[in-house]
Amino acid sequence: MVKKKKVAVIGGGVSGLAAAKAFDERGHRVFGYERTHDFGGVWELSRSYPGVQTQSPKDLYCYTDHPMPKAYPEWPKGPQVHAYLHSYAHKHKLHRLFQLNTSVLSMDRRADGQPGWSLTLDAAGQVRKEDFDFVVISTGQFSEKNIISHPGQDSFEAQGGHVMHSSDYTDSSLAKGKRVVVLGGSKSATDVAVNAAKNGASQVTLVYREPVWRVPYFVGGINFKRLLYMRAQELQFNSWGRNPLQKAMAAIAKPLIWVNFRGLETLLKLQLGLKKWDMVPKVPIEKDISCSIPIVTPGLFEGFKSGIIKPVQGTIDHYEDGQAVLTSGDKVDCDVSVLAVGWKLGIPYLAKEYRDKLIEEDGQYRTYRLSVNPDLPEMGFVGFNSSFCTVLSAEMIANWLVRYADGQLEKQPTDGQMRQNIDEMLDWRRDDRPAAQVYGGLCSAPFHFKHFDELLEDIGAAKRKRSNPVAEQFSYPNAQAYGSYLKSAPQYFAQ
Ligand SMILES: Cc1cc2nc3c(=O)[nH]c(=O)nc-3n(C[C@H](O)[C@H](O)[C@H](O)COP(=O)(O)OP(=O)(O)OC[C@H]3O[C@@H](n4cnc5c(N)ncnc54)[C@H](O)[C@@H]3O)c2cc1C
Repeated sequence: MVKKKKVAVIGGGVSGLAAAKAFDERGHRVFGYERTHDFGGVWELSRSYPGVQTQSPKDLYCYTDHPMPKAYPEWPKGPQVHAYLHSYAHKHKLHRLFQLNTSVLSMDRRADGQPGWSLTLDAAGQVRKEDFDFVVISTGQFSEKNIISHPGQDSFEAQGGHVMHSSDYTDSSLAKGKRVVVLGGSKSATDVAVNAAKNGASQVTLVYREPVWRVPYFVGGINFKRLLYMRAQELQFNSWGRNPLQKAMAAIAKPLIWVNFRGLETLLKLQLGLKKWDMVPKVPIEKDISCSIPIVTPGLFEGFKSGIIKPVQGTIDHYEDGQAVLTSGDKVDCDVSVLAVGWKLGIPYLAKEYRDKLIEEDGQYRTYRLSVNPDLPEMGFVGFNSSFCTVLSAEMIANWLVRYADGQLEKQPTDGQMRQNIDEMLDWRRDDRPAAQVYGGLCSAPFHFKHFDELLEDIGAAKRKRSNPVAEQFSYPNAQAYGSYLKSAPQYFAQ
């Protein structure tokens, strides 16, 4: 018999909702804590910059039992994703499980000697401690801004200049008539640059360090979901845990794989005009593909062509008299400086002694199946990893984690097996696939199928693939089908 647990879920974004549902469904007492006034995480309205839309197509960015509305565009806008998450919470009555405006300040082992954790909670200034048998961490990768500053910023701002993190660029009117400098080359940087250009900025300068491969929504006229999210495509990357036969086959196929990726690079160079903008990346695309590869913001290259957005390679050194001075010595006129420099990955509320067990010196995380660490029992992550289909990925991990917590995985790992696997994965990331080290090694792209296969095998799902092998090789992951695979696993209910 599985005993009912008292479970805390920290965070009310995509992942917290998936985790709360998975643990609630199995009969546990779930207590969700979200520090803001609303669900949605990065999609909460006051946090999203204007014009934001998903990178993933809508049928790859949804829960297994809740497709996005038919009326939504292929790449839904931020407010639509926010409304979708609310409709999911409503459908599964998840509101009853969450306390909003409640922050987790710290997380420590229970003082009563029982297994589990004690959370210090702050609900609108009322601080209290509460014990839990299990804690799910769903605070994501975008909860703590990476705040940087450059010399001269204070006097630049005193003279009327604005400096802000990209997530604070929530009002487009700020750009009107202004000379905007955007620092960064990620999707958020290009989104802000295009938005500022469309909203009357007199000049936008995109200052980026290195050219990176970017994928347009349509590659050679084909929706990228039909090209990049396939088992057949995934097999061409050097994934972890390949057996000698798979390695031999990869060696035989190497020339074909090489030709395939050179073809893709040529297509991208031509379609986007990368040479003209001196933006051809040095790294071969197959080595670079990971969660950090951005989708091209529509309007970016058009903005380059019209001259309203100027791409400049480099970084900001300091500010002086209405200008951002780059490390090259170049000076760029600037009224508004938007720092699209990302977020700090971490779990600031977890005491250092536990973080030390989780994070290697080089910042790589020690997690099994991107979710648990045998040296930190009674806790697990949902959605701490990035992916190209995070909603589905969060739901898959949530379903794995509840079974792990209950000892109900068909392949319940021992601590030794987990440690060995964690070490093998670290070696793979460090030696074979450095691109997999982004975000602390917590990225499942481009190996979604392999990751889901492992989770389903552990869970004991009787069905793990489509019955049509051709469709399975050449189609993107089908969220609804994954729902049926999860249902094909042994079911149970905690008492
Ligand atoms: C602009 C943007 C576009 C994106 N587009 C895509 C996409 O197209 N496809 C894709 O796969 N991924 C995309 N992502 C990645 C995105 O982060 C994930 O898809 C997903 O939304 C992450 O959800 P999450 O619940 O894991 O984390 P978050 O959405 O970050 O939610 C974490 C929640 O935890 C709360 N929290 C943090 N600390 C505490 C605390 N101490 N106590 C209580 N609550 C706390 C936060 O307030 C937040 O609500 C995008 C990200 C951004 C920023």
